[in-house]
Amino acid sequence: MAQQETALLRLRGVVREYPAGEEVVAVLKDVNLDIHAGEMVAIIGPSGSGKSTLMNIIGCLDRPTRGSYQVGGRESGEMLPDELARLRREHFGFIFQRYHLMGDLTAVGNAEIPAIYAGVSAEQRHERARVLLQRLGLGERLGNRPGQLSGGQQQRVSIARALMNGGSVILADEPTGALDQASGQEVMAILKELNASGHTIILVTHDANVAANARRIITISDGRIVSDEANDPGGAPAAAPKHPDDAPNQRDGWLAAWGRLGEATHMAARALIGHKLRTLLTMLGIIIGIASVVSVVALGNGSRQRILADIASMGTNTIDIRPGKGFGDRTAGAIHTLRPADADALAKLSYVDSVSPSVSTSKTVLRGNVSKTANISGVGVSHFRVGGYTIAQGATFNDESVRRQLQDAVIDPNTKAAFFPDGEDPIGKVLLIGSVPARVVGVTAKKDSPFGLADALEIWLPYTTVMNRLMGIRHLRSVTVRVADDADPGAAETGITELMVQRHGTQDFFTRNSDTIRQTVESTTKTMTLLISAIAVISLVVGGIGVMNIMLVSVTERTQEIGVRMAVGARQGDILKQFLIEAVLVCLIGGALGVTLALLLGEAVAAFGGESFTMIFSPASIVAAFTCSTLIGVLFGFLPARRAAQLDPVHALSGE
Ligand code: ADP
Ligand code: MG
Repeated sequence: MAQQETALLRLRGVVREYPAGEEVVAVLKDVNLDIHAGEMVAIIGPSGSGKSTLMNIIGCLDRPTRGSYQVGGRESGEMLPDELARLRREHFGFIFQRYHLMGDLTAVGNAEIPAIYAGVSAEQRHERARVLLQRLGLGERLGNRPGQLSGGQQQRVSIARALMNGGSVILADEPTGALDQASGQEVMAILKELNASGHTIILVTHDANVAANARRIITISDGRIVSDEANDPGGAPAAAPKHPDDAPNQRDGWLAAWGRLGEATHMAARALIGHKLRTLLTMLGIIIGIASVVSVVALGNGSRQRILADIASMGTNTIDIRPGKGFGDRTAGAIHTLRPADADALAKLSYVDSVSPSVSTSKTVLRGNVSKTANISGVGVSHFRVGGYTIAQGATFNDESVRRQLQDAVIDPNTKAAFFPDGEDPIGKVLLIGSVPARVVGVTAKKDSPFGLADALEIWLPYTTVMNRLMGIRHLRSVTVRVADDADPGAAETGITELMVQRHGTQDFFTRNSDTIRQTVESTTKTMTLLISAIAVISLVVGGIGVMNIMLVSVTERTQEIGVRMAVGARQGDILKQFLIEAVLVCLIGGALGVTLALLLGEAVAAFGGESFTMIFSPASIVAAFTCSTLIGVLFGFLPARRAAQLDPVHALSGE
């Protein structure tokens, strides 16, 4: 060998130590070694002498504890992890004793992995994998998975993988160790052939017969090189080292990065499909979380819209006047100052459209042998308009009925059903309310109010009739004022309050306009939705932790796979991406299933829930659900993915 030629691989004073409890154990002790391009070197030594450790350092899977290792003149100790990955990807090709193929990939799929990380286009790498496998005698086995191949065939697949990106330096650690003699000889013949065509071959073995195939035999014992001799394996003389063949075009830049992202997604999807049950169980938390968030928001939306619609039907500009300081004031019952005269005075205000005084009680109603308790409301004529009632049959009583205290009753559909079954026409019929007979003049159409009980019986009579004939009282329970459309509701409320204070001498009443009711409803439903959503979000977080948990298990389970990927040149970023995408995919699919579940629930509610429940799905909440699940995937997938990416390749390979 020419003295001046710089060695391809150059080790000086390489020491590799492992911590062993309190102490450190040196596995390699001051190794000095030059390997030139085109050589075929066998490293031989007994088991435990440090051969694999040396091989891993040469292959840039491991770093020396001390000493210098130069590849092509560059100091490996100064290289970043990604640069080392690039060396492994583009210059080295690993062949392992146990092949280390991926069980769920075909021969072609396994052979082309290094090219994926190099960013070679799919067509190009399929083609190259086929050519290499054919050249290695596996033309018939391209679509077979490792489980369907013999040991010798699997080792040939792993040789194809080592050659995928060129493999100018082939590192074979006990390549024949797991093979029968015939297959072992075949593999050795292939390695010799590769050497003849220019590949540098470094071979580790404990078998002298295997080592005899090499042109140079290095003996290692207890971490030191004890001999380094030339050997004549016979056969053709060594070919002049030339640059080994035709590596496919490798791409760089964003297109390649995009392609690698696609591949990472592929790999992640394959891993998920490979473990369907586990994937589904992992997703379960996300599915439930997303489904509950989406349906709770939809339910909240639905009930809010309904209540708001009801309020809108009540008229937007009504003001309620009641005795007391506010809803729930216990002393209100004793305040009897709200009188029909107040209502008359209010009706004279210019900005008041109509006034509806009201009183209420409950009475036993009798007709024939049917007796029921009903809510009796004494109201003004405008009550039906202001309250948004429609009359299904007959008509409401009129102002004259009010003035003359007529016993004219308007009944709701429940009352009609109770006293006039079988479609009997109630108009003109008489009901005995308490001890007072009343003639039915009208029936309202069905109206479901959020504030009333759905099956209560409601009967309306002129307020004068209820006060004087039914209850014998002189005060009202409330006065509802409808403000003229062109008036300002705020100013109207102030004016009404002033007038009432003037009439009563004190403020012994309170006012509520429909807008404040609307605001109250909105803020209550918002609070409710927020509260329940918070609970649902907690379940999402629990789901996310579940994803993290399973991903951590998955990383541990697939440590060896990660090691192999790193050995063939995957960058840390590639591994990180693969696992992160896996977590995001789990969450996204879980999110999609969750949204589907929520939509199905919505359908079911619409079909069976009647009108008391409505779910309104907003696109925003669905988009938010997906964003949320992606975030959870990224958030909870990051830790496991980073753990995978930061695995030490050597450790990972040994499957620890
Ligand atoms: P060989 O390949 O020659 O059989 P190795 O290089 O695998 O030997 O191992 C050499 C020695 O280093 C062995 O005694 C082994 O126990 C030790 N060793 C290898 N890896 C580690 C490690 N990660 N931690 C501690 N000791 C190790
Ligand atoms: Mg070994």
